[in-house]
Amino acid sequence: MFKKILIANRGEIALRVIRTCKEMGIKTVAVYSTADKDSLHVRFADEAVCIGAAPSRDSYLNIPRIIAAAEITNADAIHPGYGFLSENAEFSKICEEYKIKFIGASPEMINKMGDKATAKATMEEAGVPTVPGSKGLLKSLEDGKKIAAEMGYPVIVKATAGGGGKGMRIIKTEADFKKGWDDARQESGAAFGNDALYLEKYIEEPRHIEIQIIGDSDGRACHLSERDCSIQRRHQKLVEETPSPFITDELRDAMGKAAIKGAEAIGYEGAGTIEFLVDKHRNFYFMEMNTRIQVEHPITEEVTDFDLIKEQIKVAAGEKISGKNYYPKLFAMECRINAEDPSNGFRPSPGKIINLHLPGGKGVRIDSHVYAGYVIPPNYDSMIAKLIISGQTREEVIVRMKRALEEFVIDGIKTTIPFHIALLEDENFKAGNFTTKFLEDFDFSKIKK
Ligand code: ADP
Repeated sequence: MFKKILIANRGEIALRVIRTCKEMGIKTVAVYSTADKDSLHVRFADEAVCIGAAPSRDSYLNIPRIIAAAEITNADAIHPGYGFLSENAEFSKICEEYKIKFIGASPEMINKMGDKATAKATMEEAGVPTVPGSKGLLKSLEDGKKIAAEMGYPVIVKATAGGGGKGMRIIKTEADFKKGWDDARQESGAAFGNDALYLEKYIEEPRHIEIQIIGDSDGRACHLSERDCSIQRRHQKLVEETPSPFITDELRDAMGKAAIKGAEAIGYEGAGTIEFLVDKHRNFYFMEMNTRIQVEHPITEEVTDFDLIKEQIKVAAGEKISGKNYYPKLFAMECRINAEDPSNGFRPSPGKIINLHLPGGKGVRIDSHVYAGYVIPPNYDSMIAKLIISGQTREEVIVRMKRALEEFVIDGIKTTIPFHIALLEDENFKAGNFTTKFLEDFDFSKIKK
């Protein structure tokens, strides 16, 4: 087992990894930017190294500085968390070269799955159903138009390097094709330095349902059931739950089997997520694979009694999985609390937290790095806490979530808490009746200020 793990991340996920390491008797090294010098991950780690200035490229994305920090502290493994370098093939390769175990996917695997068009082709070959679309990348605007005409509108053009909902456009008619194409290319070129696009049939009113998997170094994989992440704003998740109110036992089995088939076909090692779109007829299609731990992993932990970070570390150290699958024994839901103003178009609201009271009680878990007096730097993402609720039934979870949100006090900044309360009062949401389009039609004026 590893003796010391460096965590190449910040915020709640850095703390999350430190917690598991402590329970496993593994020493930890935090790295931080000057903007994060007062952060809890810096305080709670056994050692901490400042790696540069606030902009991510000078610190959390700066590979030479992170490797230097691992070398001087003698860390034998690096946990990348999510975002930043977690799906960076070059970083994974450099760790290999320096004989530091990267607790994540191999460079080959990241390359295969990071490029979304290639990932789709790989899964198709493995026999996993995928969204109908172009065979690989679009060669030109005309090529795209031709495929779209054959397939029928609406279609969606997507950046092969995409992530975080960026670089995709829905196109409803041929007359709109050029605009969608230009916008998606422009956005993906700016965000990812790669403007290559592929095209898919736009699945109308789908659910986003993903399967958590773990694979070991023998190439064996198991699944830990699904998470329903259909509550999204601008293709970004805001609420996740498990089990999905839409899924049947048969569908869970079929999707679980497909996910395992996909993971085993590429010999996937570590924790990963296979994301599917599910249409109203309960047909499911592979969308993409994430080769890292995800923000919403705690809901799976709450219903399966599993520590996913611990599993990641164990598999990285060479331990084998049992091979059995895990099914939800409870219900769980996560609300992402962001420093954003939901009554004002979700405008970022960084600043100082004056007063903080965290909810508690049965079935309440909070993963967060903030405290009273904490100043949220404007440089990083706006998520400041994850409120994770578990219970015996979905109804119990919703009641408990609302109770916990009402107990939550964060003074000094705006947060998404009022949005979540309004959502939990929505009759369709309560009935489990929603798709990824749900928030497009949501009445945001219902949100109490
Ligand atoms: P990213 O990697 O940027 O998160 P994804 O490929 O995971 O992008 O897609 C994000 C979201 O966009 C999905 O959860 C879904 O809501 C929507 N989406 C993507 N592809 C399609 C499609 N073919 N049809 C309908 N919606 C889609």
